[in-house]
Amino acid sequence: EIQLQSISKRFGDVEVIPGIDLTMPDGQVTVLLGPSGCGKSTLLRMIAGLETPSGGEVLVGGRVVNDVPPAERGCALVFQNYALYPHKTVRQNLAFPLRMAKATAAEQERSVDEIAHKLELTPLLERYPRQLSGGQRQRVAMGRAMIRKPEVFLYDEPLSNLDLELRVKLRLEIARMQRTLKATAVYVTHDQTEAMTLADQIVVLRKGRIEQVGSPLTLYRSPANLFVAGFIGTPR
Ligand code: ATP
Ligand code: MG
Repeated sequence: EIQLQSISKRFGDVEVIPGIDLTMPDGQVTVLLGPSGCGKSTLLRMIAGLETPSGGEVLVGGRVVNDVPPAERGCALVFQNYALYPHKTVRQNLAFPLRMAKATAAEQERSVDEIAHKLELTPLLERYPRQLSGGQRQRVAMGRAMIRKPEVFLYDEPLSNLDLELRVKLRLEIARMQRTLKATAVYVTHDQTEAMTLADQIVVLRKGRIEQVGSPLTLYRSPANLFVAGFIGTPR
């Protein structure tokens, strides 16, 4: 479980997030939804430890992590540009975080085989990134993020650079993966279809404030105000 307690963020004189309380339950996908500039990435980066809150506390599993460096927070980050190492094979790309953590060769092999099996990458292990489709590359990048068994997945618009067909495919892929892994995830997007398909809980943000929190169905059926209704209801 991730908790934000009175979290605020100021850049210079500008208060981007005035103070937010929010709980993101274990094993669920919480989607942060809102227009450009409303503070979604800033919130995610504070959870990851890449940005320091101006006030308030971030808790992961009941522990205050404000002073814990990003690498030790147990969070895996998946961004829109999921660069792989071009001169390493899929196997080497997947094993890289383990090698950095000084895992033994046997441990590396066992984990890589396990994750490759889960993500249906086994037949592709000896290939290089340029020999993969965009979707396959994204699965490798996710596998690399997953391989150290993070407690938490943080996604920042991971599909926004892709064409529609691939976006739909990978959206289903992520949904499937989240169901199998039952990991706690925070997923940032301004795409309402993505939010509706992936979320257990949607948080609608506007100018750094929470307009409404609820299940996709609740938000759809009983939007708290016109802003939420406009964001959830209008197909774009
Ligand atoms: P988008 O959907 O466009 O990615 P977002 O909701 O992720 O938007 P943020 O990136 O969190 O928005 O930015 C929130 C606000 O904070 C914006 O007004 C942005 O200009 C401002 N901001 C973000 N980072 C900084 C920074 N390092 N310095 C100053 N202002 C910043
Ligand atoms: Mg953003």
